[in-house]
Amino acid sequence: MSHPHPELSAPPKLPKGGLRVIPLGGLGEVGRNMTVFEYDGRLLVVDCGVLFPDDHHPGVDLILPDFAAIRDRLDAIEAIVLTHGHEDHIGATPYLLRERQDIPLVGSQLTLALLNAKLREHRLRQTPFHTVKEGDRISFGPFDLEFVAVNHSIPDALAVAIRTGAGMVLHTGDFKMDQLPLDGRITDLRAFARLGEEGVDLFLTDSTNAEVPGFTTAEKRITPVLEQAFSESKQRIIVACFASHVHRVQQILDTAVKHNRKVAYVGRSMVRNMAIARDLGYLHVPPGVMVEAKELADLAPERQVLISTGSQGEPLSALARIAQRTHNFVHLQEGDTVVLASSLIPGNENAVYRVINGLARLGAHVVHKGNALVHVSGHASAGELLYCYNIVKPRNVLPVHGEVRHMLANGDLAKQTGVENVVYAEDGVVVDLVDGVAKVVGKVECGYVFVDGQSVGDVTESELKDRRILGEEGFVSVIVVVDSVAGKVSAGPEIHARGHAWADSDFEPIKQPIVDAVNRALDEGSTDTYQLQQVIRRTIGRWVSNTHKRRPMIIPVVVEA
Ligand SMILES: [Zn+2]
Ligand SMILES: [Zn+2]
Repeated sequence: MSHPHPELSAPPKLPKGGLRVIPLGGLGEVGRNMTVFEYDGRLLVVDCGVLFPDDHHPGVDLILPDFAAIRDRLDAIEAIVLTHGHEDHIGATPYLLRERQDIPLVGSQLTLALLNAKLREHRLRQTPFHTVKEGDRISFGPFDLEFVAVNHSIPDALAVAIRTGAGMVLHTGDFKMDQLPLDGRITDLRAFARLGEEGVDLFLTDSTNAEVPGFTTAEKRITPVLEQAFSESKQRIIVACFASHVHRVQQILDTAVKHNRKVAYVGRSMVRNMAIARDLGYLHVPPGVMVEAKELADLAPERQVLISTGSQGEPLSALARIAQRTHNFVHLQEGDTVVLASSLIPGNENAVYRVINGLARLGAHVVHKGNALVHVSGHASAGELLYCYNIVKPRNVLPVHGEVRHMLANGDLAKQTGVENVVYAEDGVVVDLVDGVAKVVGKVECGYVFVDGQSVGDVTESELKDRRILGEEGFVSVIVVVDSVAGKVSAGPEIHARGHAWADSDFEPIKQPIVDAVNRALDEGSTDTYQLQQVIRRTIGRWVSNTHKRRPMIIPVVVEA
């Protein structure tokens, strides 16, 4: 991938007493968050998450941050701080630990429990855990860390203040300022104010909703909407939401109890995460409400609630299989209600609407973000961000966690409150904080790293381009046999095509022109197989493009006989 900042070169040596910030993911996209802080030759990593691929990345399971910039300095890493348990913050941690297993992990109880389940799947068992909570202060090498409670769409999220000889950094992690959250744990603005009094030299803030005016609606506002869906339904209810959204699940459980319904989870990650959340006390399961999914089917439909994964239209998820009628034990009936209690992540629109249409076709009443308030965001809107800037009064601001437009909008808010120095960076752009001033000093390598099945980093951008062409345009193979002594085509071309309902006979009209073109090239002295293949590629490529309006992948083969 070409770097978006060709004008930047490698950063100079970090001046003594300076702090370097190296974002390796999450700045320029929503996902794969990872930021490296460097002080006095030592490194601290904050978050290490994944990005989920979209239609543009066929066959790719996950996209990781690029560890290349720190790969030969893994021994210098003091710790990895995980701000909360979302995949875009913890999901790539096992891949970094595969390269050095004993890096200490620092995070809240729930965050580390969710991560631990993941590490077990990767058979990683040597990693030391440091469980922290709001108010805790703990040092790793030159990094003195203090944790602050923040409210987000998963419990137990933390902001982190990082003190070094270069000053104080405050990283919000993902946060919003719901004033009446279900667990009563609000973003600790008193701590933000106290840190602001002490002096925040660099403030890294969540940009996701910086373009959204006002304040994010309270999570509690969803309850009446769920209430209504439950009271109107005479049959089974299926609610899909994120497998980590403990408070959303709590609201569904409580509503189910009120309406004398029983609940089962479907989807592996939902079952696993909710067991962890219940065991640690973050989810309060009313007695008698839960049953196994298979037992639920024995109850009358008006007593059934399923809580499922798949709210983003993921093709293999429980909800997608229900919509396609391929789920092994959940069979949707006409009149069932399906609630998609989640956001619509950009890039997933087609997949989500495909699922909604599938459910509607089967006769379900589908309630989603587009027709009811069944989701509120986990991120601070512009109004909340303004409050934060006014309370913290930072010297420098670096917007993080967002696409470019989000980060620019966030920086703009900071400036409106009087912040003088807003620094904009994307993945790989290096920012130094020296003598209290932050500025861009260079860039490091920072591409997309693709996970495809068992392979990490083997799939390249150019291979993905090939996959996209294959997927969208199909392919055509052309085999020509050349008599190198006579300098003539002696057999072929044999043409085979896949995709677009082509029959091999469709290519009859181009066979003679290919023979002519190759013979002409041979006459002109081309004997190199590669050159002859290029001649074939050009001849058939132009013809397919003109007659069929397609640009398939063309695989010419020249055999010498
Ligand atoms: Zn998050
Ligand atoms: Zn996030």
